[in-house]
Amino acid sequence: MDDDDGSAPLDEEHDHPTPEWVSTGSLPSDTEIQTIVSTGYKRFRHVDEGAVADYIPALAEVSPEAFGVAVAGVHGRVFAIGDAEQEFTIQSISKLFVFALVCNALGPAEARQKLGVNSTGLPFDSVMGIELNEDRTMNPMVNAGALATTSLVPGASPEEKFEHIVAGLSVFAGRTLVVDEEVYASEAATNDRNRGIAHLLSGYGRMYCDPDVATDIYTRQCSLRVSARDLAVMGATLADGGVNPLTGARAVSSGSCRRVLPVLATAGLYERSGDWLYDVGLPGKSGVSGGIVTVSPGKGGVGTFSPPLDEAGNSVRGQRMTTYLSERLGLNLFTSSPRQEGPAESEG
Ligand code: GLN
Repeated sequence: MDDDDGSAPLDEEHDHPTPEWVSTGSLPSDTEIQTIVSTGYKRFRHVDEGAVADYIPALAEVSPEAFGVAVAGVHGRVFAIGDAEQEFTIQSISKLFVFALVCNALGPAEARQKLGVNSTGLPFDSVMGIELNEDRTMNPMVNAGALATTSLVPGASPEEKFEHIVAGLSVFAGRTLVVDEEVYASEAATNDRNRGIAHLLSGYGRMYCDPDVATDIYTRQCSLRVSARDLAVMGATLADGGVNPLTGARAVSSGSCRRVLPVLATAGLYERSGDWLYDVGLPGKSGVSGGIVTVSPGKGGVGTFSPPLDEAGNSVRGQRMTTYLSERLGLNLFTSSPRQEGPAESEG
């Protein structure tokens, strides 16, 4: 069976590609990584653009100075600097990992059919596309699609669904993640907009459990606490065919990673996803607390934390630092150099 048209479930062969089909290079030496991480940290720590988010009241209390960076290689080593252990709520970054769990549970074909995996879902000449809010697009990396994704998480009750999320994300992180109850309560008291989106989707038949239940689970998943180091390890798990390189535990299949990462590349930084891909050349996901996770398939993950955000809601220092790391560590997926041997001899 072949899943290339996206309509068939994953098969053994695609789920576990043979190594010779995977060609993504390797990271520089450990000493070089350490030097590049600390040089970048010193270079960007004093950038003071952007503003800390305040639409979820509890988030406004964090220090704009906080800055943590971590790189986790698929070889299982982590290079961290600054406030890399400081915890913050995962927020939008949870969309990525919950989508990975759902894609893994349902299979990529059903996930695509129920959620959509396009960046806007609108035709090339759409006038509406100019007017529409990003949150109304059907991609699991923005709120509408993320709420629908959460509604598909396996589990007979809201508690079971949330347990599935915590257990799954904890395998990605390699430690048990816990909810920040203060941030959860703060967002739960102010999330009318997300509840509205969930009900609207329900009206369109694109919500797969009770919309209020889905919104509540979504708000809880956004309130899970992580650090930049956790994000690096979680990213490295997606970079390592779904296996956490520190613990050796499998979070999702390699076939699921292969389907989740392109969706991430289309919308992980909201309306700035094109700029991000242009600069960084890697799939990444940002969150309103100031975290960004970036995945370099076959090489590793990068986690950054710095609360001040740009107008699109993406961490300013995190974007600069990740751009720097992508260049210096040679992570960009679109970079190539001419074949060493030069062009083939022409005949005659
Ligand atoms: N919980 C937030 C929300 O849904 C997450 C947003 C974000 O991180 N950008 O509004």
